[in-house]
Amino acid sequence: MTVAPQFAYRGNELYAEDVPLSRLAQEFGTPLYVYSRRALREAWAAYRTAAEGRNVLVCYGMKANSNLGVLNEFKNLGAGFDIVSGGELARVLAIGGDPGKIVFSGVGKQAAEMQAALRAGVKCFNVESEAELQRLSQVAQAEGRVAAVSLRVNPDVDAQTHPYISTGLKQNKFGIAIDIAPRVYRQAAALPGIEVVGADCHIGSQITETGPYLDALDKLLVLIASLAEQGIHIKHLDLGGGLGIRYKDETPLPPKALLDQVFDRLDAQGLGHLQLVLEPGRSMVGNAGVLLTRVEYLKHGEARNFAIVDAAMNDLLRPTLYDAWHGVEPVQPRDGDPAQTYDIVGPICESGDWLARDRRLAIRQGDLLAIMSAGAYGFVMSSQYNTRPRAAEIMVDGDRYHVLRPRETVESLYAGESALPW
Ligand SMILES: *Cc1c(COP(=O)(O)O)cnc(C)c1O
Repeated sequence: MTVAPQFAYRGNELYAEDVPLSRLAQEFGTPLYVYSRRALREAWAAYRTAAEGRNVLVCYGMKANSNLGVLNEFKNLGAGFDIVSGGELARVLAIGGDPGKIVFSGVGKQAAEMQAALRAGVKCFNVESEAELQRLSQVAQAEGRVAAVSLRVNPDVDAQTHPYISTGLKQNKFGIAIDIAPRVYRQAAALPGIEVVGADCHIGSQITETGPYLDALDKLLVLIASLAEQGIHIKHLDLGGGLGIRYKDETPLPPKALLDQVFDRLDAQGLGHLQLVLEPGRSMVGNAGVLLTRVEYLKHGEARNFAIVDAAMNDLLRPTLYDAWHGVEPVQPRDGDPAQTYDIVGPICESGDWLARDRRLAIRQGDLLAIMSAGAYGFVMSSQYNTRPRAAEIMVDGDRYHVLRPRETVESLYAGESALPW
């Protein structure tokens, strides 16, 4: 079973587009992130098609995968960016991205980050608390600029997803509770250095139903109507990101299935003129990447069998962080061998260091495995724990491929560290 058409078997070989993964492992070593340019383009096209004829700005939620090569691809296709830090702003500016298409999200924006974003001229700050609003007003005044603001509203809807990636419930740290939002909007409208331009929510991630989005939308529409009565007129509505992908057997919600219903409701409320902003991250890149790893050892025990591989939790954190399920595919399947049940684990000294559990595989020491659907929240969450250099990232494009990031060297990991005087 493979989930993305760009990673498919030809004969007895798993390919990325027209390149055998074994060739990339040979040339660049493992662990190795491999992305498909075609998959990025198709993910983008699904949003564009769904938005046809409407005023929609797709701001790629870049924390899912912020490699400059990926950002540049989306920039050239016309995307804006949803950033969550000054570091991400610097990445967008580094590729020549249009600041006028940047929305700045996040609960803990620092004054220096606000300053940098104001100077760059971002489209909008998605403000998440009254305290942030006060600070932004001060920073903007000191800069002699006006900050365009959306309030990120917490609509208190259940996105029906993993607790760690659900963000739209009352108990989450995110956003401003919808019942106090009208008061905070009035405050925002009266503050110097602030211009109210939008309304925003982001209710969670890996969402596969329209229900939670439409519940959130309905609540936002009530809010927007009450704001209008008070003379506060917004220009855009930001519904955040969160569309799910297929890791195992999920049925992802296509952007069009969601947007058709969103437009219907906007039109019904006479709000068809509002610009719609979206912040998709995972659904733009998740199925466009795999993590290649090699089996170092097989360890057959009484209770369990382990395939100890050269990738680990430092390379792909999602399994241990969210109990996430990723497909595991042999790059060169051994159809003649009997399959056994394995836990796929890394070499790190943590029991949480696992990538997959209970998988039926016919494998031998030295075999290559592809951990599927690793394009989102993969490399970006990787660390150098155990002084393990982070993996290289490769972009496949047809029968060609490009190094988007070389493998780190061990020396670079401790460059800048120093011993005490002795
Ligand atoms: C993470 C995040 C996104 C992207 O979410 P996905 O589930 O990857 O689509 C969008 N907006 C905000 C505010 C986020 O924090």
